[in-house]
Amino acid sequence: MRRHSLKWRLILRVSGLVALAMTVVTLTVAYVMRHELDNQSRAMLDELARSSQIQLENRIAYLVESTRRLADNPFMINGLVDSQARIDDLPKLIDNFHEGTSLSAFALLDFDGKPVFQAHDWLPRFNQSPELRAALALGVTALYSDVESGQLFIIAPVSYYQTTQGALVAGFDLAKLASRHASRSAQAYLRILHPQGVVAQVSYDANQTFISTRLAPAADTPYLGQLGLTLESGLPQSQFDAVMTVTLSRFIGISVILTLASAMIAAGMGQGIARPILELHRRVSRADDGERCSPLGTDDELESLAEAFDQRTSALEAARFQLVQQRDQFEYEANHDALTGLPNRYNFDQRFAELLRQPGVTGRQQLALVYIDLDRFKLINDSLGHPVGDSVLQTVAQRMQLLTQGCELFRHGGDEFMLMVTAPAQLTQLEVLLERIVDTLRQPILMGEHNLDVRGSLGVTFYPQDGHDRETLLRNADIAMYQAKNTGGGHYRIFDEEMSRVAYDRMAIEAGVRRAIERSELVVYYQPQIDLRSSQLTGSEALVRWHHPERGLIMPGVFIPIAEESRLIVDLGEYVMREACRQQAQWYREGRAPGRVSVNLAGRQIQDPGLPGIVEGILAETGCRAEWLELEVTEGFIMQDPARAIPTLKRLREMGISLAIDDFGTGYSSLAYLKRLPVTRLKIDQSFVRNSALNPDDVAIIEVIVALGNNLGLDLIAEGVETPHQRELLLKLGCFAAQGFLFSRPLPPKELEAFLDALPAPQDRALG
Ligand code: C2E
Ligand code: MG
Ligand code: MG
Repeated sequence: MRRHSLKWRLILRVSGLVALAMTVVTLTVAYVMRHELDNQSRAMLDELARSSQIQLENRIAYLVESTRRLADNPFMINGLVDSQARIDDLPKLIDNFHEGTSLSAFALLDFDGKPVFQAHDWLPRFNQSPELRAALALGVTALYSDVESGQLFIIAPVSYYQTTQGALVAGFDLAKLASRHASRSAQAYLRILHPQGVVAQVSYDANQTFISTRLAPAADTPYLGQLGLTLESGLPQSQFDAVMTVTLSRFIGISVILTLASAMIAAGMGQGIARPILELHRRVSRADDGERCSPLGTDDELESLAEAFDQRTSALEAARFQLVQQRDQFEYEANHDALTGLPNRYNFDQRFAELLRQPGVTGRQQLALVYIDLDRFKLINDSLGHPVGDSVLQTVAQRMQLLTQGCELFRHGGDEFMLMVTAPAQLTQLEVLLERIVDTLRQPILMGEHNLDVRGSLGVTFYPQDGHDRETLLRNADIAMYQAKNTGGGHYRIFDEEMSRVAYDRMAIEAGVRRAIERSELVVYYQPQIDLRSSQLTGSEALVRWHHPERGLIMPGVFIPIAEESRLIVDLGEYVMREACRQQAQWYREGRAPGRVSVNLAGRQIQDPGLPGIVEGILAETGCRAEWLELEVTEGFIMQDPARAIPTLKRLREMGISLAIDDFGTGYSSLAYLKRLPVTRLKIDQSFVRNSALNPDDVAIIEVIVALGNNLGLDLIAEGVETPHQRELLLKLGCFAAQGFLFSRPLPPKELEAFLDALPAPQDRALG
């Protein structure tokens, strides 16, 4: 619902209230006025009636007095006694009397009440009336009114020397009396009432409605009292109403005009109140546009309010601006990697979800995800320190950014980057881009005196055919990247289903090996090592196999590389070492002479400073002597972190354990390091032995290794001897120890025992 503005609400309320108040006042005053007018009219009417009553009373008194005087006139006595006098004098006298009064009847009666003289029209039967009796007997003047004829009769005794001789009766028309002597306004009527009915009335119209008042006789109207006459005076209702209507309508008219005027004034006031408030509102709500509350010109509290608004608005605006800046900064930091300035993994997740929500991203190869992992970053970071590592990441990020314009590049964490290529037009185009990235990553990075070879492996996956959700796509990109890395690194691989299966197998193997350790499914085989000159056994190499309950015997080449990627290899290595040591101790206890057992160590094991302690524990636990044990380690594992590996190897050597370098000749072969390594034997890699029959270079390498070993005072042993020719060649080159299928495959313990038993037993075979 739309809200009314403050202005209109104020105007409507104030003027509405004023109009209501005015209306209430008008109605109240009109009511009071009407009541007052009514009262006044009635008082006026009472006044009128009262004045009529007094006038009538006075007139009757005058008539009584006149009649009494007439009765005292000597002509009346004459009239009583002399008939001629009645004819000569009385008519004149009566006429004379008639002039000043409204005489309607006249009679002279004798003492018996018989009329002796009558004038005018009619006289009622009066002779028996109590008033006449009283007048004749008591000699007093009597009065009475006759309802039928509407006349007032005055009976005065006619006396002669204090004795009543007769009486005089004078009749007066009451209606005439009233109309002539009572006061009354033009429209008013007057009625004279007797208990027996209306005696006389003036200007009375029975069809009209009147407002009337009645006055009973009072103390100052004794005659009217004597006659029992009440006076009624009235005004027509219509006249009364007309006055009332005119007065009230004028009043109401004026009131309405006043009400309207007041409402208008009130509306003006409402507007006056609302205006500065609305002005404040307008300016505050438009504060964003830079407009501020300038003074309103009211010079009062509103003015201070405007200033307060001004200050508060400015403060709020400043705070808001700061908050917006902070929010932008936080947003940037939350979405970007601080080191490279690239969008981060969180940003990637957001962006990816956003892309998937876009309509139409469903066709083939709509989106390519490229997982980029640096191949040698860890080595650089660990050996040259984190500041160098950070610079390498920044350089790599910059180089890739230049190449990947139009695509979205993210730092996914550590040395991993993620490239999002939307709608790659053609696979070949994408492949060109991938090649370029690989090339760029292959470019050396100059850092101080170091020229760093970083390289990167890339895994590519496509939406939607390789997965419909982020997790699946990332996992598949990771699998492809891993494949690239596993096949030497420094190139890209595009994900396919086969990779997924391989990855799955890897996972299954990893979990399986863990279980195999727990369930003792791992068994140790021993490959004899032979002295070529005496054909005697000098020792054996412990090589692990997995007796899988369903898949049968699994060779270490399948699961060792997988185990090497996690700490699993540490547990596995410990397991094999414990088993080999236990077996050695057992064989020696049984009086056999198995020589020295060689146990392979993985990179993670020799990087662990706790290794000597673990070996010590195993030796003590199994009862195997240190000199019965040799540990084999490849150059590659040592070179991963020589600073950590060498002290560990030294301690092992100090414990009396022999140390051999496995697969010698295939790794770094850093002679400088070799001198510092506490090794006792070099194991010539089987690749040189295998090819020695055909390749003179390999023969040369074997020669060099033999010379090196002799120079450094190290023992030598060749691996992978399969043919008698190889055996002869080694003997010729000065390598007198070997292991290989020519002598024996790796054997389970029981078979090694049989192998041992089959050998002739010379005195010098045993070490212990
Ligand atoms: P390695 O230490 O170089 O072991 C020698 C490998 O050469 C063994 O393979 C052995 O069976 C094989 N071999 C021996 N003589 C000949 C031969 O005349 N011709 C040919 N073609 N091969 C021969 P295996 O047993 O399959 O072991 C493979 C690798 O697995 C080992 O290479 C070693 O690096 C690793 N490994 C085996 N057991 C362990 C272990 O307990 N711990 C660790 N860390 N690695 C192990
Ligand atoms: Mg070995
Ligand atoms: Mg080897």
